[in-house]
Amino acid sequence: MTVVLIAEDDPEINELMALTLRMEGYQVVQARDGEQALQCVKQQEPDLVLLDVMMPRISGYGVARTLQENPATSHIPIIFVTAKHEMEDLVHGLELAVDYVCKPFAMPELLARVRAALRMSKLQEDLRNSNEQLARLAVTDELTGIANRRGFDAHLEDELWRARRFGQSLAIVMFDLDRFKAVNDTYGHAQGDVVLKAFAEVLHHSSRRIDKVARFGGEEFAALLPATDTTGAETFAEKVRAATEALEIPRESVDGQPAPPIHVTVSGGVAVAHAIDQGEENITVLTRALVQAADRCLYQAKGSGRNRIIVDTIETLSASAPA
Ligand code: GH3
Ligand code: MG
Ligand code: MG
Ligand code: MG
Repeated sequence: MTVVLIAEDDPEINELMALTLRMEGYQVVQARDGEQALQCVKQQEPDLVLLDVMMPRISGYGVARTLQENPATSHIPIIFVTAKHEMEDLVHGLELAVDYVCKPFAMPELLARVRAALRMSKLQEDLRNSNEQLARLAVTDELTGIANRRGFDAHLEDELWRARRFGQSLAIVMFDLDRFKAVNDTYGHAQGDVVLKAFAEVLHHSSRRIDKVARFGGEEFAALLPATDTTGAETFAEKVRAATEALEIPRESVDGQPAPPIHVTVSGGVAVAHAIDQGEENITVLTRALVQAADRCLYQAKGSGRNRIIVDTIETLSASAPA
């Protein structure tokens, strides 16, 4: 139910507005001064405020300003209800409100303005929600629900700043599923997707809250481990490797016969930076150097038989890490 707060010190006008709005199906809360109005907003979280300008204790402008300054209430639309002689003040008051009505006013006019203000506020709320959703989608991998490369990169830059500032180590692991093309070729792309989701689950459950795991694309994944040394990073990567090898990924039955599960393995490259070059201005080149170091290890893991983890420890991460 839509809640409308009426803040008006004239009891007759207050009652008249309340009656009209209730008849239209709104839930009405009434306040007789500015202080009460602010209390009501806190307790009832109204969808709209009809705000008299001249009121005891705190004026309508004061109330409006307080609501606007608080992020929890700044989205609540305000309609000023004002006597004619207050019109001049209203020009600056309108910066705080979406609309105004002048006393004396006809009830159909008031109702029309209330409906319009609520409609506008609903549109703005929808817009806020879809913007939030878009922002979330932009950093999320659709298939697995973990971060995508964009989300990971943003996080990596932040963590590099932090690691450098506090003199902590930082580890990154690149994973690539082994012979994954064969999984797709043998069982089909849809089953391949099931495998990718299962691996993302392993990654997610093997990591701590402050770690960040992501799907870089295809069958490549990454993990970022803040404040983690070589032993810790290797233990994590090895745990993921072993859990992946142990996975039994269910398959759809073939001709009513239960099909044996799919098994996969993963290779991993770990790069651990014990310290970060304090002089380097461009943090992006540092993130790239760290990713490249992990990539080189991954390449070695592939070359030396797959289903293994190779680790590289970098004493001080700088832009000119060995190629
Ligand atoms: P390697 O052990 O050397 O990594 O071999 P590989 O077969 O895993 O590597 P390759 O890069 O040749 O193949 C990767 C395969 O990943 C190719 C493609 O069919 C598959 N792939 C990429 N993205 C997706 C996806 O979104 N879903 C599915 N099911 N498969 C994907
Ligand atoms: Mg008044
Ligand atoms: Mg692969
Ligand atoms: Mg690959």
